[in-house]
Amino acid sequence: MASSPNTIPAASSADSAGASPGTAAAKLDLTAEIARDLIRFDTTNYGEGRSNGETDAAEYVAQKLRALGLVPELFDSEPGRTSVVARVQGRDTSRPALVVHGHLDVVPADPANWSVDPFAGVIKDGLLWGRGAVDMKNMDAMILASLQDVIGSGGAPERDLVIAFFADEEAGGVLGSHFLVNEHPHLFDGATEAISEVGGYSITLGGQRAYLLQTGEKALIWVKLVARGEAGHGSRMHPNNAITRLAEAVAKLGRHEWPIRLTDTTEQLLGEIARILDVDPQRVGPDELALATGTASGFIQASLRTTANPTGLTAGYKHNVIPDAAEALIDIRSLPGEEDLVLAQIQDIVGADIEIVTMHRDIGLETEFSGPLIDAVVSTLERHDPGAPVLPYLLSAGTDNKALSTLGIKGYGFAPLRLPAYLDFPAMFHGVDERVPLDALVFGRRVLTDLLSSY
Ligand SMILES: [Zn+2]
Repeated sequence: MASSPNTIPAASSADSAGASPGTAAAKLDLTAEIARDLIRFDTTNYGEGRSNGETDAAEYVAQKLRALGLVPELFDSEPGRTSVVARVQGRDTSRPALVVHGHLDVVPADPANWSVDPFAGVIKDGLLWGRGAVDMKNMDAMILASLQDVIGSGGAPERDLVIAFFADEEAGGVLGSHFLVNEHPHLFDGATEAISEVGGYSITLGGQRAYLLQTGEKALIWVKLVARGEAGHGSRMHPNNAITRLAEAVAKLGRHEWPIRLTDTTEQLLGEIARILDVDPQRVGPDELALATGTASGFIQASLRTTANPTGLTAGYKHNVIPDAAEALIDIRSLPGEEDLVLAQIQDIVGADIEIVTMHRDIGLETEFSGPLIDAVVSTLERHDPGAPVLPYLLSAGTDNKALSTLGIKGYGFAPLRLPAYLDFPAMFHGVDERVPLDALVFGRRVLTDLLSSY
């Protein structure tokens, strides 16, 4: 379905401004300019406490906020790990505040795999290329550019906004959103809702453009499997080899087929997909319906069940020595509320002699696809891309909304981007050659400006 770009209505010429290859550099929209600048700060977060840090990018962002007359506060959870928060006064102070947030860190990029320098902020073929172009310096820039539109000439948003740029999202937010929520919760006083990344982008469904609005997130459990055995000489008979036992456990877990279980969100999504495609959801299975979403199907299929992927192996220190322990990293994403059940099932799968050490754990979230914010998002998108349906979805990954939820703030993924059908946007999260069309950034800025002005 996603391979038929000709069935998608062309963007209006106004929306394509700045997107043609020859003129892009000269007419760069503010959004692309900020996103490019942010990509040039290498804020790589390697995980497990190793990071290049976010301070330079945080100071850049703070400077943009100051230029708009705001008073940003900078918070260092650790040296170099800087988050920025600023409050924008709304017209109607009786309304609860809305948190609009992004993260400043990115995952590592190996330049050898990329066709451009991942930290150069290259503009090519009407797209901005670089680590963070998709996740999520694009939205960071859309937030700043739309703020300029809303308050730059003395205007105000409808309600108070809490603008936050977090450090450390890519390592679970311990040194960013979780730090701020725990140590400085007053920053979010009066806020009840939040919008941020991994939603709001368009997909192609049955030849028609549709938008995915993220209304939930799976839970995250990062565990280490540890097999212990006896150390010994590599030349001997050795039945109790930790590496062999760990390898068996990892293979079993990696090949385990987790059953489909629909939540309110995924049930509603599949129902909507079936309606749009005009098929009977009782006759077309959940996986098949998910596959109809084309490029987004990787995300959506993973939202229908738990996943538990092996992501790392560590064992041994010498070719002729059997080590006494072997370890594997497993990235578990369970459906919301099933965390303990899934951990017990994993223990069954790997066997009682494998120790499971929880390294990091965070909750799942699910919010109903209704209410004033949803109505505002749907009507705003309708104004900017008439006739394109908005569908709820459960994110198979996680965002800083998890941390905000501990303060009772309902978070949504809404970083609006109207994308061409040929672009496999979901694959570029943490992927190679991350890039975003310049005209999609312009669209996002415009939609966000409209939403913040009116909601
Ligand atoms: Zn992200």
